[in-house]
Amino acid sequence: MISKEGFDFSFDEKACEKCGGKCCTGESGNIFVSKEELKILRQYLGLDEQEFALKFLKKVGFKMSFKEVKFEDGYACIFFDQVKRNCKIYEYRPSQCRTFPFWKYYKNHKEELEKECIGICYL
Ligand code: SF4
Ligand code: SF4
Repeated sequence: MISKEGFDFSFDEKACEKCGGKCCTGESGNIFVSKEELKILRQYLGLDEQEFALKFLKKVGFKMSFKEVKFEDGYACIFFDQVKRNCKIYEYRPSQCRTFPFWKYYKNHKEELEKECIGICYL
């Protein structure tokens, strides 16, 4: 069970095994990734910068996000394994994914979070 200062809920990582990846699928969104994170991920996948960008990235303003693909009635992150229903790059996923569900936004949108994530427990 993980908890974080400033949040009145904790998060059970084990829930991800039975969830099916709700936070990686659904409505369209952005999965922002930093230059440093990209460098490490490129090394892991053994792809050069151009090849990686063409395959996996989209530009959103001044930031880079992972692309999405059509999935069920909505979308999935391009790194979501649609058969195993988990993250193909789990060890190398960006900070946005690592810090979920402890996002400032959810402090004031708890109902939304409860619908999204079955791993939430109140303290
Ligand atoms: S929505 Fe919650 S339980 Fe489901 S995969 Fe994401 S973090 Fe895990
Ligand atoms: S990088 Fe992994 S954890 Fe993050 S949205 Fe994509 S599939 Fe999900």
